[in-house]
Amino acid sequence: MISRDEDIVIIGGGPVGLYIAGRLLQLGYSCKVLEKNKSINPHSRSLGIHPISLELFEKAGIAQKFIDEGVKIRRGYAFWNRNRMGEISFEKTPKPFNYILALPQSRTERILQEWVLGLNSEAILRGAEVKSMQNGEESVAVRYEMDGVHASVNSRHMIGCDGINSFVRMDLGIPFDGKQYPDTYIMGDFLDNTDFGEDAAVYLHEEGLIESFPLPGGMRRWVVKTDRRMENPDAEQLGKLIHDRLGHSLNTMDNVMMSSFGVQHFLARQMTKGNVLLAGDAAHVVSPIGGQGMNLGWLDAEAAVQTIVQSLKNPANQSGLFLLYSKKQRRVAKKAAKRAELNMWLGRKESSNLPVKWALSMILNTPLSGLLAKMFTMRGL
Ligand SMILES: Cc1cc2nc3c(=O)[nH]c(=O)nc-3n(C[C@H](O)[C@H](O)[C@H](O)COP(=O)(O)OP(=O)(O)OC[C@H]3O[C@@H](n4cnc5c(N)ncnc54)[C@H](O)[C@@H]3O)c2cc1C
Repeated sequence: MISRDEDIVIIGGGPVGLYIAGRLLQLGYSCKVLEKNKSINPHSRSLGIHPISLELFEKAGIAQKFIDEGVKIRRGYAFWNRNRMGEISFEKTPKPFNYILALPQSRTERILQEWVLGLNSEAILRGAEVKSMQNGEESVAVRYEMDGVHASVNSRHMIGCDGINSFVRMDLGIPFDGKQYPDTYIMGDFLDNTDFGEDAAVYLHEEGLIESFPLPGGMRRWVVKTDRRMENPDAEQLGKLIHDRLGHSLNTMDNVMMSSFGVQHFLARQMTKGNVLLAGDAAHVVSPIGGQGMNLGWLDAEAAVQTIVQSLKNPANQSGLFLLYSKKQRRVAKKAAKRAELNMWLGRKESSNLPVKWALSMILNTPLSGLLAKMFTMRGL
């Protein structure tokens, strides 16, 4: 059995775990990321990097890497069925990041991984699946399996960033409270054949929501609300729904990604136990409509780094610092979940009525639209 020692061990090398590793290495701490997948998940999930995250990246000195690869969404058009109701501009939100950056999650993870490996080429162990852990008085022992070999690593602290089905959260016995929503969607990436350019478009349609976002490389993502979960949807099915609702024809030959997803909301009853913190989807899951989950995870990530640094400097304050982290980040997650619920509610058939249309038109066409711009850029959480 191979055994190592680190200041901090991070379980899960998704966007949250990788960001934490980079920050801890920058601050001079030793850390190891244990990630069960051998390579970055190519499946496209998140596309939106919000200004609050770009501000964190700027402080870490890595914002430009993302900006160089992404598309800056400065404006979104809102439609009622096929009719344009108004627009939300992010131009007046705080500069310099007065836009949402569109970049597929796999590319985001690649940039973060390269950053971490540039700081320490041995910081990430890919193909290492955590099998057990012991949360002791003053350290955490983790056992993992890699290429059929069992190994262990001991550390002062551990951060569980292992996603929605978190092994860490379950092993600690922390309840995950929440529910599955009835809403279902399909999404696909196509060559962009609209006139929207770098702008987003959201259609509140009586047959169900349609969202359309620019992607790098002249591509565009379409997200379509469906009446029921469609397993393995194909480009023709998505193209037909868009044509029926909007009259817009996609060239289905230009499709590069298709998937379907349901939505849920879960929150860990606590985000700490002993020497362990939880961060990202391991601690909370919000509906992807509104695109907040990964960004919420990075807010945890920076707070977790600061908490651990403070705690290593003042070990006597550890439990207070950890509890404060849990309380604050749970509060932020609850707020984000409420916003995501509002976004979803707007996209439902039941919300497709005249009073809602009237209220939205008024907001979009008055200075109140600035409030929506703040909400959609995750300000004020
Ligand atoms: C369709 C869709 C669209 C989305 N769009 C957006 C968006 O636009 N904006 C946004 O902010 N968010 C979005 N999200 C949410 C976003 O994808 C997640 O919030 C984000 O991936 C969470 O990052 P994470 O690092 O916490 O967890 P994950 O990305 O789930 O990473 C967890 C990692 O832990 C590893 N792991 C798990 N168990 C173990 C183990 N036992 N040992 C070792 N490794 C382990 C996994 O292999 C994985 O790599 C979307 C989600 C979906 C489904």
